[in-house]
Amino acid sequence: MNFFLGEEQLHWQSLACTFAQERVQPLAREMDEAGQMPHTLIEEMATRGFLGGTIPKAWGGSGMDALSLALVYEELGRVCSSVRGFMTVHTSLVMQCINQWGNDEQKQRYLPLMARGELIGCYALTEPDAGSDAASIQTTARSEGGLGYALNGEKIWITNGNIARIAIVFARLHTLQEKKQHEQITAFLVPLNAAEDAGIKRTRMPGEPLGHRASDHAHIVFNDCFIGHEMVLGGEGMGFKVAMSALDHGRLGVAAGAVGVHQACLDACIQFAKERKQFGKPIGDFEMIQSTIAEMKASLDAARLLVYRSAWMKDQGLSTKLETSIAKYFATNAAVKAASEAVLLHGARGYSNEYPVERYYRDIKGLQIYEGTEHIQKIVIAKELLR
Ligand SMILES: Cc1cc2nc3c(=O)[nH]c(=O)nc-3n(C[C@H](O)[C@H](O)[C@H](O)COP(=O)(O)OP(=O)(O)OC[C@H]3O[C@@H](n4cnc5c(N)ncnc54)[C@H](O)[C@@H]3O)c2cc1C
Repeated sequence: MNFFLGEEQLHWQSLACTFAQERVQPLAREMDEAGQMPHTLIEEMATRGFLGGTIPKAWGGSGMDALSLALVYEELGRVCSSVRGFMTVHTSLVMQCINQWGNDEQKQRYLPLMARGELIGCYALTEPDAGSDAASIQTTARSEGGLGYALNGEKIWITNGNIARIAIVFARLHTLQEKKQHEQITAFLVPLNAAEDAGIKRTRMPGEPLGHRASDHAHIVFNDCFIGHEMVLGGEGMGFKVAMSALDHGRLGVAAGAVGVHQACLDACIQFAKERKQFGKPIGDFEMIQSTIAEMKASLDAARLLVYRSAWMKDQGLSTKLETSIAKYFATNAAVKAASEAVLLHGARGYSNEYPVERYYRDIKGLQIYEGTEHIQKIVIAKELLR
């Protein structure tokens, strides 16, 4: 076993760390308050090669290994979950999915533009009545005389949905209605450049989200939206497999992002414990504060090792369904606990956005929910063990 990062991994980690600390960190609170992130940040991530992730250089990507990509997510997650979330959806859910399931024409048409940040992607699976039970989606695709398909339905909580120009949309194909529920699902690449004209209505999700406030979350309605037959991704009836394989990539990104949030909580607590004095001494002198910091560090190391194990296995070409779910389950839960403890350790200061721990506390809850909730990860883990 080798616990040292290689030269290439150290390169991506250092590049991402510098970018995150110098370019994202100073804007994080402002973006959270404004409810959006500047497009320049996306351009800068593209210029540095982050958006190209593990996509081969032949398709315009950066050709990273999975561990390098996890390190980029960790560094971004350390400063802003909205920025990390943007990239996980764009790069891991959408680009990796096109790379895995697309034909050469689809890869050529979309991947280079996406790696350059000139085309933003979103992944549209969730619906008002289909969240954890993704196989029960109700959006339909009706065959239009061999020319293509008409999409009808509604998607919610779609990250990047209003700024995206390409979506992977999952719908139930009419011609497959005799098949099992999940075998009817088909994935479509849906261009979003002329949204209103093409029978697509995109709006911001109503209400203020608890966290990820700088992210763009869309409600998308399809009303007889015509999609050419060449836009099917992975073949008719393959959509559920496409969706689940994308989530396998995305979940690792979320788990790595959670490690970043966890690290940020620990850093903030150590600094505050040294600075804040009560009863005539720094609060870091009190054993209960030391206990909090020690537990935070131990669970952080465990979470990080689980994330790196899953990434390393991906790089060996091994199946990682079990290990990725374990990493996502453990890392997000551990970070939720760390963020809660970090707010407590900061006292009233932790309850205000004067300090970033309240943002970490709001943001981290989302990581426990999207791309399969904590409960769903436990179901995946148990099923893998019991089958
Ligand atoms: C910030 C954010 C970003 C998101 N981005 C996207 C995106 O880009 N694209 C997209 O498609 N979706 C996105 N989502 C939606 C997200 O994937 C869903 O919210 C998630 O899958 C859960 O679905 P739900 O909200 O409908 O909850 P439900 O499925 O209704 O679950 C409600 C509760 O029941 C539990 N539950 C459900 N089934 C079971 C079971 N069998 N056993 C035990 N417990 C169960 C759940 O764990 C949960 O606690 C996003 C959500 C958030 C909050």
